[in-house]
Amino acid sequence: MELHPTPLNLTPYKAALPVAADCGNQIMRWSDELARHTEVEDMLTRTYLTPAHHSAAAQLAEWMCAAGMQVRRDMAGNVIGRYEADTADAPALVTGSHFDSVRNGGKYDGNLGILLPIACVQQWHNAGKRFPFALEVIGFAEEEGVRFKATLLGSRAAAGTFDMAVLDNRDDDGHTMREVMAASGFHAVGLAKAAYPPKSVLAFVEVHIEQGPVLLNAELPVGVVTAISGASRFMVEIHGLAGHAGTVPMEMRRDAAMAAAEIGLFIERRCQGKPGLVGTVGMLNVPNGAANVVPGRALFSIDIRAGDDAVRHAAVADVLAEIDTIAQRRNVSINARKTHDAMSVPCAPWLQQQLATAISSSNLPVRHLPSGAGHDAMAMAAITDVAMLFVRCGNGGISHHPDETMTAADAALAAQVFTHFVEQFRK
Ligand SMILES: [Zn+2]
Repeated sequence: MELHPTPLNLTPYKAALPVAADCGNQIMRWSDELARHTEVEDMLTRTYLTPAHHSAAAQLAEWMCAAGMQVRRDMAGNVIGRYEADTADAPALVTGSHFDSVRNGGKYDGNLGILLPIACVQQWHNAGKRFPFALEVIGFAEEEGVRFKATLLGSRAAAGTFDMAVLDNRDDDGHTMREVMAASGFHAVGLAKAAYPPKSVLAFVEVHIEQGPVLLNAELPVGVVTAISGASRFMVEIHGLAGHAGTVPMEMRRDAAMAAAEIGLFIERRCQGKPGLVGTVGMLNVPNGAANVVPGRALFSIDIRAGDDAVRHAAVADVLAEIDTIAQRRNVSINARKTHDAMSVPCAPWLQQQLATAISSSNLPVRHLPSGAGHDAMAMAAITDVAMLFVRCGNGGISHHPDETMTAADAALAAQVFTHFVEQFRK
């Protein structure tokens, strides 16, 4: 008896993976590999121009090259891969995201928006497919602002809006950004040249994990971003009157902490149920508080965001009016100091439409949502129309944390959507 029958067909059987599924696995493998470039073992910490950051950049450049792109670095340390058009000197559709991380961050934040397009380019390169426009994939060197307390360094350099004043910012070891850049071979004088001439860019589209639970709860793998929310931030200080917790009758109190609590609850109520509007009291402090003392002083923060600036401004105005009312009623003095105010950055409707079409082409429902977090696309909006494709993350949408996760299936679907988007892209 023949135990090993000779197969009729001697050609080794190779499962024909659908292109996009293969892409998804590739993206997950690369994400794992890139996460090994870290400053701290057993977690992902990759801040601007550290050895881990340099080696991650080299790895990205290698993958870009292998995918058929010409790779260059600019003086901000951005890694840029260009997949040529079918004609020379064509303007580029630009995509990308950041490869720096927060301390103990997640491996998909930023990195996904670089690795996914590289995987797609590799497929086009293998198939010999080119477009009437070039495709540039940027690994932005810095977005999070961890090392030098200044954010969006890579994309601001690419957009020509780099603030030269931040070159004097120092890291925790006392080195200025200028010194650290020079030691890495990047020179401030070349920063101006990092800026894309606006005419060379057709649009900027960023793929990013959502960093929130909306797509997860809606059971959707991807979504189209409507706008990157504007944000207003305040630090609030309340002065009341400290007193003995046992001797001051309730009606005679001027309790600073309870005034803060009432304001916090108003912010929550005011922002509830309004799509795209969020309000947060993330810091709340009773300085020198004690269990047996009526609080005389309270400090807290307010952060209000919305995709629509008018909606945010209306909420801020209501909160400030309520603060006045509460101050009078409770006989406390309240000082609200604005510490940050950023306009929202709308995503271009024509690009949102083309992303929606690409999602429909993948037989997926189209969901629009605002981005509450800032992204490189904000900076790129200075030179071109921008759009963002959000990809679902797992674990309740947690990000900036090692529990940040996504699936290979979602990476595959997002790659398919991105592929449709680029293949159908028209300006
Ligand atoms: Zn990010």
